[in-house]
Amino acid sequence: MDPNWMARGLCANQPPETFFPSDGVGVEVAKRICAKCPVKDPCLEHALSNRIDHGVWGGCSERQRRRILKARRKEAEKAARLGRETSVKF
Ligand code: SF4
Repeated sequence: MDPNWMARGLCANQPPETFFPSDGVGVEVAKRICAKCPVKDPCLEHALSNRIDHGVWGGCSERQRRRILKARRKEAEKAARLGRETSVKF
């Protein structure tokens, strides 16, 4: 993964607290910024890979990232039961 993606994120010019909101309204504000960010995908994968459980990353809230990880785990378990290789990251 390109380690320089963070510098290209739209959050680089925003107050950090914008991406660590304390309520649902703040989460939606951060997600709207992320929606236009050119490095949304690597940002989300970084948060998922590193189990970052605070803040909005890659356009996803903490709850959304937990759901993605859970779905990936289930997919990997299913693939393992079927004896298949999987590229699912979790
Ligand atoms: S997706 Fe959001 S949190 Fe990630 S780099 Fe872009 S603006 Fe920042």
